[in-house]
Amino acid sequence: MTDAASAPQPAAPSRAFVSLIGAGPGDPGLLTLRGAEALRQADVVLFDYLANPELLRFCPQAQTIYVGKKGFSEYISQEQINALIVTKAQEGGGQRVARLKGGDVFVFGRGGEEAEACAEAGVPFEIVPGVTSAVAAPAYAGIPVTHREAARSFAVLTGNTKEGGAHYERLSGVDTLVLLMGVRNLDQIAAELIQAGRAPETPAATVQWGTTPQQRVATGTLATIAHRVREAGLEAPAVTVVGEVVRLRETLRWFDHAEHAAPDFGGPLAGRRVAVTRTRDGASGLSDVLRARGASVLEVPLIRFAETGDEAALHARLRDLAGVGWLLLTSNQAVTALFTQLERLGLDARHLAGVRLAAVGPSTARSLAERGLRADFVPATPGARHLGAELPARPGEVTLHLTSQLAEDELERALVTRGLRYERAELYRTEPAQPGEHALARLRGADVVTLASGSAARHLAALAGTDFVVAAMGPQTADAAREAGFTRVTVAQGASLEALADAAAQAVAAAARPT
Ligand code: SAH
Repeated sequence: MTDAASAPQPAAPSRAFVSLIGAGPGDPGLLTLRGAEALRQADVVLFDYLANPELLRFCPQAQTIYVGKKGFSEYISQEQINALIVTKAQEGGGQRVARLKGGDVFVFGRGGEEAEACAEAGVPFEIVPGVTSAVAAPAYAGIPVTHREAARSFAVLTGNTKEGGAHYERLSGVDTLVLLMGVRNLDQIAAELIQAGRAPETPAATVQWGTTPQQRVATGTLATIAHRVREAGLEAPAVTVVGEVVRLRETLRWFDHAEHAAPDFGGPLAGRRVAVTRTRDGASGLSDVLRARGASVLEVPLIRFAETGDEAALHARLRDLAGVGWLLLTSNQAVTALFTQLERLGLDARHLAGVRLAAVGPSTARSLAERGLRADFVPATPGARHLGAELPARPGEVTLHLTSQLAEDELERALVTRGLRYERAELYRTEPAQPGEHALARLRGADVVTLASGSAARHLAALAGTDFVVAAMGPQTADAAREAGFTRVTVAQGASLEALADAAAQAVAAAARPT
């Protein structure tokens, strides 16, 4: 580091920097604090098949690139990934690249090769170790890899013969073996371990999708585990633990054990894939509620917010609010954008002292409250329709709707019918997000898709068709969804995130019932 104050800088230093981050085994709570921080700072994020995409909520600002080899239409080789990391870091005046990898960076993650590529190209980098599935998947299955009585050492090995090959005799003194990438060859590996001297009756367990709501476990012995895994239909990604410690699962089982799991764990959303289609910054609250009910959340933003197209016009409208009786705010984003714009005008909340504020529902009202403003009116039933019908304004009064270019006419019609004057200003823009192929594939695999707005419904239909089970935020969103062609629509019976999660649960249950 140079002291910027004392030395004149010839050129701006390049921002190029690569963080190789271990994303942890799947449970998003197992990302490290340092990993989250590096994601927040990233300009570009390259993520893997095994890195939970929910973690992308830490980097709503970043360009995201899926480089997983699984399910990717074109095969991306490791060499291409190495090159991409370096290119992205060097682009422009240099960028901060976060390379998010499942588990730990250096445990069979080829992180070493990626770090070498950075070193060779002279791109500075850091390693953010992650929680490896080799330890965490057994732990979530109630199996400690070491234990004072049962095991004093453990080894992690690959079952992928290309990656290592079998030298099992050398492992004869190791108490616990943890096998990664070995489900497919489990028969052969177990046989070779027995041949190398391990007792056929040694306890063994295979954990698929460990630490996630889809975690499944099969247990047996070295002699039977391959058969048990086939019987249970377990596939990759899975780790197999071999050793006396596996017996401890009988007493230590916790995560995949209904009695000990979170209260809602056995509910209709347990293990279900729920797609959340709000913008990334707006999604996390709903995702948390869904996750608490055991759902596996896929965040696939279908819309994104952008700056208004005519800031000069907006500023002119906002600067002088004389004559305006009511400001109508019909989304959280409106509140956020309003304050951004006030700040740009060199103003603050005091500028709104002379107008009354109407919020479309409790959530928007809460956004105002967070900025120290109490809404003067919130309709008892949230929604533009109710706001328009019930706003306590006198005929002739001017209402100013600060909204996106996509605002529907419902509110205007209701107010004009009542003899009120309606003005609209474009405060922000709602634009379709362009999810990549990978995100769309995950969306298609969802058990239910939650929709928070009519524009999300229309955009989903345009992008991926209407063959989805959907849960809609409210009656207007539901109407828009039906108009867009969706037939399996469940409406939330209230304006809360809990109500939307309930609707998702009902939708899943209804879809599961034979018709
Ligand atoms: N760097 C990773 C391992 C990458 S190799 C880590 O430290 O965890 C990929 C293998 O990891 C998979 O084939 C599987 O054996 C294992 N794996 C990764 N995530 C897993 C999970 N959630 N549950 C079970 N096995 C997992």
